[in-house]
Amino acid sequence: MNILVINCGSSSLKFQLIDSDTENWIAKGLCERIGIDGSVISYTPAGGEKEVKETPMPDHTEAIRLVLEALTNPSTGVVKDLKEIGAVGHRIVHGGEKFASSTIITDEVIEAIRECNDLAPLHNPANLIGIDACRKLMGDTPMVAVFDTAFHQTMPPKAYMYGLPYAYYEKYKVRRYGFHGTSHSYVSHRAAEKLGVDFDQQKIIVCHLGNGASVSAVLNGKCVDTSMGLTPLEGLIMGTRSGDLDPAILEFLANKENMTLSEVMNVLNKKSGVYGLSGDISSDFRDLEKAHNEGNKKATMTLEAFCYRVAKYIGAYVAAMNGVDVICFTAGVGENAPLVRSWVCEYLGYLGITLDDTANNKRGEDIVITTPESRTKVMVIPTNEELAIARETLALV
Ligand code: AMP
Repeated sequence: MNILVINCGSSSLKFQLIDSDTENWIAKGLCERIGIDGSVISYTPAGGEKEVKETPMPDHTEAIRLVLEALTNPSTGVVKDLKEIGAVGHRIVHGGEKFASSTIITDEVIEAIRECNDLAPLHNPANLIGIDACRKLMGDTPMVAVFDTAFHQTMPPKAYMYGLPYAYYEKYKVRRYGFHGTSHSYVSHRAAEKLGVDFDQQKIIVCHLGNGASVSAVLNGKCVDTSMGLTPLEGLIMGTRSGDLDPAILEFLANKENMTLSEVMNVLNKKSGVYGLSGDISSDFRDLEKAHNEGNKKATMTLEAFCYRVAKYIGAYVAAMNGVDVICFTAGVGENAPLVRSWVCEYLGYLGITLDDTANNKRGEDIVITTPESRTKVMVIPTNEELAIARETLALV
């Protein structure tokens, strides 16, 4: 079956059409600047050339219409008719406590997702617009919602409760949820599969290090802790997000810089992380590594702070699980930055980890990067959230 995977943001929309038999993508692309002047759609059929076209996209319905037009285009399309698309899988950022697994989209499910909008005001409304646009244009094609938060719903209260008055949890569901769940699930399963061990009997730590970054602890097949919280701001130092900090900093900065609370939040979300810490060098680790190699001290300190925080979370999750069998690195930085992996692993001698430098310098494959003598295994597993969404979709339709 061909499954269309949609990841809809407020002004962008990523898509992939995946053949569920081969698990290969047959076309993929991106719509950018939806609702803004200068909208652009890029489209790549498997084995073909990438096309980039500037065309007006006043709203998401028009963006989806253009995606479907590209997929069925007689010369560069990959299907003859929309009927050849058997199902659509939608990435939904926040499922709150309502969704512990993926679900077929119905009117009731849409309403329940809408009720989670408060928890992810930037993401969930955009995800819903994507669902609405697909429903308008694709009639009865079954659709599935796959939640970023669902994999983490197995966390116990001791891991997800904040040290706040309990009434806020009762009234507003203020608790830790965690994100990147599709990736943490895919990578931890894949690691067990690759090692030929039983997923349900492993202690796995997944480090999803991309522009957004999070760590999770997967004990005997269930997520027991993760570094992101109510929102994706908590935890690691990220591309532009601060991660953990003393909450008193918000009021302190608001007073000192004469900022409103939402202006401070904007700084924490968009101007902090490795970007802010490096003195605005870049949020991209390639630029930071280059600056570090050229002797830029702020870049070096930023990379050290990033790796130190990752290593501390790994240590915390070793404690939470009373051990670890395998540590996995994934996402843009985790998959592509040997320097980051080796700096993180330098803290992990107490786990008997010895890196295999040749393996650590390879790219683009599922690989063990520790030596055979290493007491704990470290792996690089390229994440594939689209495939994970397609698999969930197939399983439900
Ligand atoms: P993601 O959010 O998973 O797409 O990751 C995007 C980030 O991956 C970029 O912002 C870069 O910081 C990082 N990245 C991508 N390629 C490389 C590379 N070759 N070396 C270091 N970092 C990389």
